[in-house]
Amino acid sequence: GFNCGIVGLPNVGKSTLFNALTNSAKAAAANFPFCTIEPNVGIVEVPDERLQKIAEIVKPKRIVPTTIEFVDIAGLVKGASKGEGLGNQFLGNIRSVDAIAHVVRCFEDPNVVHVDGSVNPVRDIETINMELIFKDLETVEKRLQKVAKQAKSGDKAARKEAEILENLKEILERGERIHPYFEEASEDFKKLVKELGLLTAKPVLYIANVDEEGLLEDNEFVKQVKELAEKEKAPVVKICAKIESELSELEPEEKEEFLKELGLKEPGLNSVIREGYRLLDLITFFTAGEQEVRAWTIKKGTKAPQAAGKIHSDIERGFIRAEVVSYEDLIREGSMQKCKEKGLIRLEGKDYEVKDGDIIYFRFNV
Ligand code: GDP
Repeated sequence: GFNCGIVGLPNVGKSTLFNALTNSAKAAAANFPFCTIEPNVGIVEVPDERLQKIAEIVKPKRIVPTTIEFVDIAGLVKGASKGEGLGNQFLGNIRSVDAIAHVVRCFEDPNVVHVDGSVNPVRDIETINMELIFKDLETVEKRLQKVAKQAKSGDKAARKEAEILENLKEILERGERIHPYFEEASEDFKKLVKELGLLTAKPVLYIANVDEEGLLEDNEFVKQVKELAEKEKAPVVKICAKIESELSELEPEEKEEFLKELGLKEPGLNSVIREGYRLLDLITFFTAGEQEVRAWTIKKGTKAPQAAGKIHSDIERGFIRAEVVSYEDLIREGSMQKCKEKGLIRLEGKDYEVKDGDIIYFRFNV
């Protein structure tokens, strides 16, 4: 599956958010650093109102949403890259995630200790980012040492790689993350960055954790986070982790009531999940039958047979064709039969790139 690691300084609300996300009220948040040591993995359903709409038409026995994983990576502190705290272990955990949800404290509370003495989200973000940057610098320099020798002896490929490594080093030494440079970089650059598993090359989503008042109107802290994120072209989601954890324990009706009181359309967690999903460049396609209507996750750009492989490897292996109707067409026409009559069910072959919202029936040889 695809996953998103939750990072942040101690006491910013990571565990509270994670527990709300996984709806496990058990692991109570404790008010001191290092309370969560093992990386916790939570599988979270992706809210998607299209599922309900399709189900109203198809009337299946059950509805199955798609999921993404959140990993609680606690304990990242200043000095982690030098092995402070359980630093290196945590940095290692970050290496294994596809994207980073960086929780930042944007609430004042005298009862909740801040590791650096005061609430200052920009400083906090820099503290964490610097640890990741230091670690990446170490990785790049190590590699550079190796490659430099080969480059000197006239190896062309090594010379080219050394050039990219120098470029990476420059960016990191300026205190910048690699990710903002990734999209427009050359294929060689991308390939090397992937190979090195650079931490700052992962996409980041900032989660501004506010108090109740901050939910209605951005406080100064949130404004600062948004300003910084804009420069990095990173998305920001504002939530109140404490309220989210309360919400996550309510029955649906009570939840509606509470949301109304708060003036919210939906839990903030939904935006966290959706943004995490977007960050990973994921899209959703659907299968719709009498048994179930179900959402499936694929990387943008996935071809029909590989999409079928998400359902079962047999369907990928024996793939004949995909019968595809778009979500918009189905909803507008109101039934599969109508879509068929109007010729809206397309027959697509093995080179078809699946689109977000496609409803697909796969034909395959057993
Ligand atoms: P972590 O160390 O980042 O995992 O932080 P925790 O989730 O354990 O939270 C640390 C403390 O901050 C706990 O006492 C939480 O109850 C409290 N906390 C978390 N989110 C909020 C919030 O939105 N508002 C307030 N006032 N306190 C919060």
